Amino acid sequence: MTPEWLEAWTPEVGTARVATLFAARFDQDPDGTWSAPGRVNLIGEHTDYNGGLCLPIALPHRTYAALRRRDDDAVRLVSAQEPDGMRTIALADVAPGAVDGWAGYVVGVAWALRQAGYAVGGFDVAIDSCVPYGAGLSSSAALEASVAVALDAVFALGLAGSDEGRATLAALCVRAENEIAGAPTGGMDQAAALRAQQGHALLLDCLDGSVRHVPFDLAAHDLALLVVDTRAEHALVDGQYAARRASCEAAAARLGVGTLREISDDPRGLEWALDKLDDEVQVRRVRHVVNEIDRVTWFVALLDAGEVGLVGTLMNQSHASLRDDYEVSCRELDLVVDTARVAGAVGARMTGGGFGGSAIALVSADEVDRVAQAVADAFADAGLRAPAFLVATAAAAAG
Ligand code: ADP
Ligand code: MG
Repeated sequence: MTPEWLEAWTPEVGTARVATLFAARFDQDPDGTWSAPGRVNLIGEHTDYNGGLCLPIALPHRTYAALRRRDDDAVRLVSAQEPDGMRTIALADVAPGAVDGWAGYVVGVAWALRQAGYAVGGFDVAIDSCVPYGAGLSSSAALEASVAVALDAVFALGLAGSDEGRATLAALCVRAENEIAGAPTGGMDQAAALRAQQGHALLLDCLDGSVRHVPFDLAAHDLALLVVDTRAEHALVDGQYAARRASCEAAAARLGVGTLREISDDPRGLEWALDKLDDEVQVRRVRHVVNEIDRVTWFVALLDAGEVGLVGTLMNQSHASLRDDYEVSCRELDLVVDTARVAGAVGARMTGGGFGGSAIALVSADEVDRVAQAVADAFADAGLRAPAFLVATAAAAAG
């Protein structure tokens, strides 16, 4: 089985594709083109909605938007990934529950900006993307962020020029996804798409939204980050996500804290918290969240110390915790992780929400192909759908 590689488009290719699509569908040129990256999280999973820490990088794989401002309040939208043709929606009609399908991610951003008092009107927009859908690499936030920076420019909102403004855009993209697209999401994805820096991992503190850019240059250490999209499809994923969130909220209420982050910062420690919980499931969920937040701190400390080769253990521990304590892994994710490790990976873990999506493996730069081949073979042997592969480097945010 030959591994299938998902190559990132160059900015020239992405821009040309989306501008051509716009001109073909709207019979005029766009005001401009913008783009935003997918992301992969190095460590810190299911911590964002617990006020914790996470550490994503922006991918070289981006979603491109060509956009033109209109004088009325109509939005016309097309996507190369959605063959259902052009859709037209009046901004005045956008409300929770009123827009179905992918259009909700786009008009939701305009809606959220208007809700926050920004003067945003109608527009025509064409979308094209090399971020795979539903792979846990956040094509949804890439779409929202590409539209957010485009609207920021054509309606002269002045938000994309500063990190503070970008944090505002990220929060509004979260509202768009939660309230208009109707998808639960924590906030890590939008922060990565809008606030990451090339060559750096984004240490995001989800308690106060503050960030630190941590130098992340694997090539300098002869290492590479292999991302494997399992292409596994599991039902009830959103329900499982909601159940995990609910469990964390119930545990926090039982412990008398606002978020589980307070447990990691509490000198009495995890043991105290676990002793106070009588629900065995909550015990395991809390143990994952608190330990995972600690692992982010350790991971960053190793990066700061130039000891990238040592983060593998933390990745392995994170996977075990997500699999056993948080119970969000699946057969395909476990197979990637186990196979990559046997094939020589320094460390490997599932990434993203789980139940399918992607896993990451930290490997020697000259062993990328060998590890990918081993994973592809293992999937074929198990009779599973062929996975897809990409190599992640820390790329730039939306622009
Ligand atoms: P992920 O963010 O992990 O890729 P999600 O389920 O959160 O998966 O988001 C995928 C959804 O986002 C798609 O089903 C579609 O509705 C929307 N989407 C993402 N990228 C595009 C695109 N290029 N064109 C149209 N819709 C898109
Ligand atoms: Mg998403």
